[in-house]
Amino acid sequence: MLGPAVTTRSNQLVPLDSNFASGGSLRQLFGLDNAALAACMLAAGEPAWRGCQMAEAMYRQRLTSLDEITTLPKALRQRLGAEGWQVGRPRILQVFKSTDGTERYLVQGQPMDPQTVETVWMPEGDGGEAGDSGDADAAEEGKSRTRATICVSSQVGCAVNCQFCLTAKLGLQRNLGAGEIAGQVVAVLDRHGVEVGRERVNLVFMGMGEPFLNYESFMAAVRLLVEEVGLSPQRMTVSTSGIVPGIERFAQEPPEVRPKLAISLNAPNNAIRSEVMPVNRKWPIEAVVDAVRQVRLRSRERITFEYVLLGGVTDRLEHAAEVARLVRRSGLPAKVNLIAWNPGPGIEYTMPSAGAVEAFRVALAAEGVPVYLRKPRGRDIFAACGQLKRTVEG
Ligand code: SF4
Repeated sequence: MLGPAVTTRSNQLVPLDSNFASGGSLRQLFGLDNAALAACMLAAGEPAWRGCQMAEAMYRQRLTSLDEITTLPKALRQRLGAEGWQVGRPRILQVFKSTDGTERYLVQGQPMDPQTVETVWMPEGDGGEAGDSGDADAAEEGKSRTRATICVSSQVGCAVNCQFCLTAKLGLQRNLGAGEIAGQVVAVLDRHGVEVGRERVNLVFMGMGEPFLNYESFMAAVRLLVEEVGLSPQRMTVSTSGIVPGIERFAQEPPEVRPKLAISLNAPNNAIRSEVMPVNRKWPIEAVVDAVRQVRLRSRERITFEYVLLGGVTDRLEHAAEVARLVRRSGLPAKVNLIAWNPGPGIEYTMPSAGAVEAFRVALAAEGVPVYLRKPRGRDIFAACGQLKRTVEG
């Protein structure tokens, strides 16, 4: 048996042997970081560098079975297999393809788990990155997939209950582990043959769930993606509904592994926001902005305020003026991403008219606020913002 392999820094927060029943239960290696894999190998009487070989095989070469990891001696692979270990990378179970090239996946985080989560691949992104530092490099790269974006889930369902969001209808089913979060990304990179380091891919943690209510696993996944997979945190954005303790904790993360921050604002003032996002009753806009001020931004980095336009509710010109004042008062280097609300079954809101969206954008721009319109992607396959609910209709 492999002994306990725990470090506070590693992704395995419980002893490796303690969370699995003996007698043939499967044990997942995917999700363990280099340090945990090395400790695991040491406990098995192997040199620590065998852990590096495993990390290289799972995260860089994207191998999905122990048999394929031929850098490990066959006897060791067999021993691991006999003890129930497997790579156990999350699997794409179903693919829905949009006419616009977007793909939505149902991903199984753990073998045999019936609770899937959703991940979305947008080959051209959705404009959410527009105006961020680094966009200029993308144009210079001149590569075919300079703007691909993967939207990643952090929980099965969500407890935050934003009134415009389909995921909220599921309630919170469970948190995802670090391997289940990072595994969505690696599975999608693999599916599209993306060469990390040569092709630019953006990650947005804006799928199902509130990342800051699953903080440990979310940040452990980010560290895996940065340190083991080789992705840049500056091409990652995490969006929060405004969980103040989470933002304060996030502010302490070192810049080498800290993604960019987006606040899901969605209303011009506390009265409307508390209706649309009940979480605002606990942490109103001012408290959220105060917490965001604690984040030490990199040079040219900006905070993004995401703003879903709900027809007749948050899309009026006077709302745009309020948002402009709010952004100015915050004193933060910031931009606003506008998203026209995507309809979903059982949600009473209406889409804003194209005219209202454009008028809102123009009004913010006229107030000197950097503003970008996120393009709806994959509406026909329920992949657009706020539409993720494990729907199986294609
Ligand atoms: S918008 Fe995000 S935080 Fe709000 S309910 Fe949906 S998944 Fe949760």
